[in-house]
Amino acid sequence: MVEKKLMSMFDLKGKAAFVTGGNGGIGLGMAKGLAAAGAAVAIGGRNRTKADAALAELSKFGAKAEFIELDVLKESSCRAAVDNAASTFGHLDILVNNAGTNIRKQPENLPTQDWHTVLDTNLTSAFVCSHAAYPHMIRAGGGKIINIGSMMSIFGAPYSVAYAASKGGIVQMARAMATAWAKNNIQVNSVLPGWIDTELTQGARREVEGLHDRVLARTPAQRWGHPNDFAGIAVFLASSASDFVTGTAIPVDGGYSILG
Ligand code: NDP
Repeated sequence: MVEKKLMSMFDLKGKAAFVTGGNGGIGLGMAKGLAAAGAAVAIGGRNRTKADAALAELSKFGAKAEFIELDVLKESSCRAAVDNAASTFGHLDILVNNAGTNIRKQPENLPTQDWHTVLDTNLTSAFVCSHAAYPHMIRAGGGKIINIGSMMSIFGAPYSVAYAASKGGIVQMARAMATAWAKNNIQVNSVLPGWIDTELTQGARREVEGLHDRVLARTPAQRWGHPNDFAGIAVFLASSASDFVTGTAIPVDGGYSILG
């Protein structure tokens, strides 16, 4: 019996997941991992064109995949999307809080409105989606919540005051939820991406001079990350392989954060 459980520890057949911002970038990389392991996956976002392309990629894995319209800046949209994912598949077992944004300005030049936009997109939405997912996970007998942090959960940068606050906050939020919901068999963890080639960082490379080469020079793996680098960690943190892993923050960064 124990051996049988170990043999299928990465199997997500029969599980249902909702990935915010799963229509592109890191979110899609994670959604692909979940689908490859057999989960039904709902991807949430605003951009329908990106979502159609993402659904075409997900369909290659033979798992059920759906797009759910979502604006994480609106609490009602977060709650409706989580409920929609649960009713589409009949249950909800896995939530990936991935949607995120950045507004790059020095602290002295950052209007309060921009602060709120970044905090609400990256942090408040993760709280609201987790809060909305909780009753569904209770009904399912447990669940997995995966939050996307950043190297800015650990480090600071002059142009990242709101972003770093949101990404530091998401790690602490996950730790607090992990302690609260362990009794419900819900594991809550964070993933800290290094520098990954996505729309978000294409913007950063345009706005921050020399960034591309600085990242390469500091990354022991000697490359920028690819969204598919997140498929494996998604499967691990969404599957029974991680049932005794909760409240952690795991870097997926090609070694960026351990170079002295
Ligand atoms: P992308 O810009 O490719 O993806 C961001 C995703 O978030 C999009 O799918 C977007 O959907 C969604 N999103 C943003 N705002 C909203 C909103 N208001 N409502 C709904 N969805 C929204 O960037 P990444 O893949 O790089 O980013 C994904 C996560 O990874 C973010 O949390 C980011 O902070 C984090 N991260 C990325 C790193 C990197 O190097 N790329 C490094 C560290 C962390 P839509 O297009 O439909 O708006």
